[in-house]
Amino acid sequence: MAKPKVAFYWCASCGGCEEAIIDLAEDILVVVDAVDIVLWPVALGFNLKDVEAMNYGAIAVSFINGAVRTEEQQEWVKLLRKKSGLVIAFGSCAHLGGIPGLANLWDRKSIFEHVYKTRPSNNNPDGVYPQLKTEVNGNELTLPQFFDTVHTLDQVVDVDYYLPGCAPPPDLIMEAVKAILEGKLPEKGAVLAPDKSLCDTCPRAENKPEKLVMKEIKRVHEIIPDPEKCLLEEGIICLGPATRSGCGERCINANMPCKGCFGPTKEVTDQGAKMLSALASILGVEDEEKMSEEEVQKLVGQVEDPVGVFYMYGLPASILRRRQMNT
Ligand code: SF4
Ligand code: SF4
Repeated sequence: MAKPKVAFYWCASCGGCEEAIIDLAEDILVVVDAVDIVLWPVALGFNLKDVEAMNYGAIAVSFINGAVRTEEQQEWVKLLRKKSGLVIAFGSCAHLGGIPGLANLWDRKSIFEHVYKTRPSNNNPDGVYPQLKTEVNGNELTLPQFFDTVHTLDQVVDVDYYLPGCAPPPDLIMEAVKAILEGKLPEKGAVLAPDKSLCDTCPRAENKPEKLVMKEIKRVHEIIPDPEKCLLEEGIICLGPATRSGCGERCINANMPCKGCFGPTKEVTDQGAKMLSALASILGVEDEEKMSEEEVQKLVGQVEDPVGVFYMYGLPASILRRRQMNT
């Protein structure tokens, strides 16, 4: 019997999701044995024309990681959508926009200006920017268009399932592969991870005081937190209340706060807003003691880089999506 054809593709991301496949260790042999990998640019040769020549639906599943930030990435994901039975957004960047999505605080013009012109290490007195077409020795070189806005995968094509995480952990990848092979997938659109918050599974949750109060906000380099205590109690913003569990509490076990890479649970529309409201309920209120407006402002002012804290992985997927530029 012919094995199902599987494709892996990489858009705007760091490459960690590709590493996650390798992290399957010996389980990768199970995957390779069960499927026929027809596209995996990071490991095998690839050609757009080969994929174009395939019939619609010829690929059983495409695992696509990375956000969509260029015209070339858009072309590839649209092609893979046409040729695939299932498309899975693999990892935080495809799912939520991820770290590349923080570029939605700027646009192409301001990014190019900084990267190619005003950065102190640049030596570009003529202010030359990359061009879509350049002629070199009579040959035309082309670059894909760089979009103003970073998109999640489902803002560009229809997505069947989401495998969350930066990067998705091996156990969730294997569970997803098994569910695909056995035809036991949940309803379309599901995130293939538990629908519980990280605080529900965090080992520190049981030590949380009944009334949690955060009187001061600290950054991770300022203290070494008590490994038994909830990080919020220690004054560190941990996105556990607004984030889906399933990662094995990777950051918490390293005594670091959750930054939200698994995205929100099903009932939460906006992860950052959910975290802000969780924070608002514990900031500096003890025994019904009221804070003055000045005290509130001082406390809130301690949050350095609010977008980076509350939307580190999910700005393109949030209600905000991007900053409005005045240009
Ligand atoms: S806020 Fe963070 S440290 Fe505290 S219980 Fe939730 S996940 Fe654990
Ligand atoms: S603790 Fe949070 S940021 Fe860290 S891996 Fe888990 S979901 Fe991602």
